[in-house]
Amino acid sequence: MKYTQNLHTHTSFCDGKHTPEEIVQKALAQGFTEIGFSGHIHTTYSKVCSAEKTEAYRREVRRLKEAYRDRIDIFLGIEYDMYCGVDVSSGYDYVIAGVHALKIDGKYYPFHRALDVVEKLVDEQFGGDGMAYVKCYYETMAKLPEEGKFDIVAHFDSVTRHVEMKPLFDMESKEYLDAAFTALHAIAGKIPFFEVNTGALARGFRTAPYPALPILKEMKRLGLNLILASDAHDGDALTAGFDPAVALMREAGYRETYVLKKSGFEAVPLE
Ligand SMILES: [Zn+2]
Ligand SMILES: [Zn+2]
Repeated sequence: MKYTQNLHTHTSFCDGKHTPEEIVQKALAQGFTEIGFSGHIHTTYSKVCSAEKTEAYRREVRRLKEAYRDRIDIFLGIEYDMYCGVDVSSGYDYVIAGVHALKIDGKYYPFHRALDVVEKLVDEQFGGDGMAYVKCYYETMAKLPEEGKFDIVAHFDSVTRHVEMKPLFDMESKEYLDAAFTALHAIAGKIPFFEVNTGALARGFRTAPYPALPILKEMKRLGLNLILASDAHDGDALTAGFDPAVALMREAGYRETYVLKKSGFEAVPLE
């Protein structure tokens, strides 16, 4: 089966390369019957988006929804950011929620960017202890459901983004998995879908998607539902990394994934 849907898509309204309309065109060219946009919400601690840009993004996606209604179903989503404090409870077809910054002593530290930013964060805020950084990330993730009602957990395990470039902590350790599982158990049942996110894989930071296989196996054991998402910042990467992601999902025991249709989320076989 060819996977022809992506719900985690960024545009030039935040940090993506292409306009929403260019992406719709690219999705159509690949035979998509739906495409979902998930622009980054504006926050006080990041310049990726602004309240004005969020509004303009919403207007443009709504315009495209109408303009292309006979050719493709366009969903207006948003990527909510822990600590942004913006009400996203209405006005969106779905909400992806994730953590892009850690809050330490009242200050926000984005950790999703370049390796040198993360190294500085680990050195200065965690005394060089990478595992303390991991624990802070997962303690933050665990609190995500308290922030609102969301549909999809964004890139659970994205704390491993730089680990193949620099071993900031040991991914084989029990400590790391214990932290991940504790967060997973806190979120399970409160947010219905988790992403298998190929963003870092597609951009060459990682050789595997998030989350790691042992976490996927625990998700399967808990009966949690997955969606495939490329976290595309480039309209030519809408399904980048989906093949290895499907292989990993199957290895974890999954035989289905979910897609969004006009009527809601629907299971499709993982082939
Ligand atoms: Zn994200
Ligand atoms: Zn994203």
